[in-house]
Amino acid sequence: MERIYNFSAGPAALPAEVLEQARDEMLNWQGCGMSVMEMSHRGKAFTGIIEQAEADLRTLMGIPANYKVLFLQGGATLQFSMVPINLLAGRSADYLVTGSWSKKAFKEAQRLGKARCAVSTEEEGFARLPAVGEFDLDPCAAYLHVCTNETIHGVEVHDCAALPASVPLVADMSSHILSRPVDVSRYDLIYAGAQKNVGPAGLTLVIVREDLIGRVMPGMPTMLDYQVHADNGSMLNTPPTYAIYIAGLVFQWLKRRGGLAAMERANVEKAKLLYDAIDASALYRNPVERASRSRMNAPFTLARPELDAAFLAEANIRGLAGLKGHKSVGGMRASIYNAITLEGVQALVDFMREFERKHG
Ligand code: PMP
Repeated sequence: MERIYNFSAGPAALPAEVLEQARDEMLNWQGCGMSVMEMSHRGKAFTGIIEQAEADLRTLMGIPANYKVLFLQGGATLQFSMVPINLLAGRSADYLVTGSWSKKAFKEAQRLGKARCAVSTEEEGFARLPAVGEFDLDPCAAYLHVCTNETIHGVEVHDCAALPASVPLVADMSSHILSRPVDVSRYDLIYAGAQKNVGPAGLTLVIVREDLIGRVMPGMPTMLDYQVHADNGSMLNTPPTYAIYIAGLVFQWLKRRGGLAAMERANVEKAKLLYDAIDASALYRNPVERASRSRMNAPFTLARPELDAAFLAEANIRGLAGLKGHKSVGGMRASIYNAITLEGVQALVDFMREFERKHG
């Protein structure tokens, strides 16, 4: 069977090369006579796998030595709680509310302590990133939380220099991590669910400056304490071993492809192809201000919503899947993560043009 182009927001497309390697190694990983899924997480083989994965991630992202890399579970959603539980330390935190995901993170922090909304673009439909001048910042905040790519609304922070440096910066990078180089030292904590640009669902990456941890809220479960995870090398309990193994293969694939600078060049080209096609059309529309548009998630609507079902059905026949927009905003969304090739985006654009000629 031919593989389709999968534009799903996550779990999402993985590089075919990675899946082929996993298939080849499935029954007998490197001559050890068993699958990675069957290995003890404390054995020599798996220890090698997780150490290599961490080393490769550190190289790819240029993670400084004073940052811990944690391989956790519970998705990015658990980080909405773990961040305040570990970093509030009795103080207040500021949140930029720029889309559904940062709004959720803000709400969760409010349940756990004091959290302020420094700015919200909700009344404008989350269609742009606010400028620093619009932020109402607390200079004593324990941290400022930002979602650097809003997966549902399709807005992305393109320049981290545009974020204030006065308080620790916490970033939810779930849907654009590894899509471009990032200056890790500008952030104090970065987290990301793996199921978009990293690997399978079930793994969450946390990259945190080591001096920020060790001040967890009293009375919290041990599993929610970053310090304990760091002290145990992400082996406090059984980690998601197979997801870590696949993530490690993705890291090696990225290194072979030339690293994050090469991925960024490819992603800029892919996003330009798609947005140019949307902007040139009378049928499709992306609501986001140009400078804030996400390279990874492009939501778009059809001028005649009665055509939505036909669009999705005809796309599916062409092997273009996962294009239905998030239920909260409707319309369409094309997620074009690292594993989606330029050919994949071209196939989508060709189909969109053909559909418009036929129905527009
Ligand atoms: N943050 C962002 C930016 C996301 O896109 C998502 C999931 N789509 C989440 C958080 C929640 O992630 P998870 O499902 O891994 O908990």
